[in-house]
Amino acid sequence: MESRRVGILGIQGAVDKHALLLKATGAEARVILHPEELKTVDALILPGGESSTISKGIARLGLREPIQDFVRQGRPVLGTCAGAILLSKRCRNHPVPTLGLLDVTACRNAYGTQVDSFSTGADPGGESQLARMRCVFIRAPRLEDLGPAVEVLLRVDGWPVLVREGSVLAATFHPELADDPRVHALLLKG
Ligand code: GLN
Repeated sequence: MESRRVGILGIQGAVDKHALLLKATGAEARVILHPEELKTVDALILPGGESSTISKGIARLGLREPIQDFVRQGRPVLGTCAGAILLSKRCRNHPVPTLGLLDVTACRNAYGTQVDSFSTGADPGGESQLARMRCVFIRAPRLEDLGPAVEVLLRVDGWPVLVREGSVLAATFHPELADDPRVHALLLKG
């Protein structure tokens, strides 16, 4: 069953850009700032931004357990960049409290301070629907120590940049900034 109402955590990040891409896939976007609002959506996006700030916002708004329950019930979630950090089970390099929903270690700001933002192409090869994806990285994390259930959908320079574990999708780049709805379409397929 395709999800049609998608929540976007509204604490920080490119909420509008995510909403535009969701509309392009035919879904309805709703900004989420309160636990009750999660009951009105079928899927959830955790945008990029600063994971430390978003993590504090999640705690302040009482959203930690409701988001964990939402995802553990099998509903699809997509985390982009800081959102991917927040989904991870483990975090290093200035660790932040995470939601523990994706069996990876997120290493924050792993591309260093000099080359901290860049855009590059990724291609999984073959007939993949993700061919020739433009990936925008902004002070991105790297995903390491992937658990056995984590599937790598895209790599850049050998590093996983788009992964899936069950209904959990995480991108270390910003699909919402490349005007390409294919990652959002994956979320909607759940
Ligand atoms: N560097 C940020 C962090 O560690 C993530 C940056 C982003 O989301 N673009 O939280």
